[in-house]
Amino acid sequence: MTCTRIPGGIVCHTQKFRPGDQVPEGYLAWHEWAEVQHKAGLRQKQCGRCGLWRYPQELSGDVIEWEERTARGKPVRQMAPMCLKCQLHARHEPPNDQDQPTP
Ligand SMILES: [Zn+2]
Repeated sequence: MTCTRIPGGIVCHTQKFRPGDQVPEGYLAWHEWAEVQHKAGLRQKQCGRCGLWRYPQELSGDVIEWEERTARGKPVRQMAPMCLKCQLHARHEPPNDQDQPTP
């Protein structure tokens, strides 16, 4: 519920979300927002880093790639989206690149 101060009083209303709206702050607001996104046909994707399910608006557009091996040992390229929160964390962490020479 959002309350707005107007001349002579306060107007309170439940926030209405539309499909494609940006992620709101707050737990309850998030659930209202998620319901609207789901009804509109938007589906969550699992973040390849934290493993949480995120709606498209919560994804960064970055893609994580890694290699896995099948039971027969055949390498398979895996891809998963990265959510905005993980992207933020990744930027603050030093790159974990094994190709870089260690000083
Ligand atoms: Zn994540």
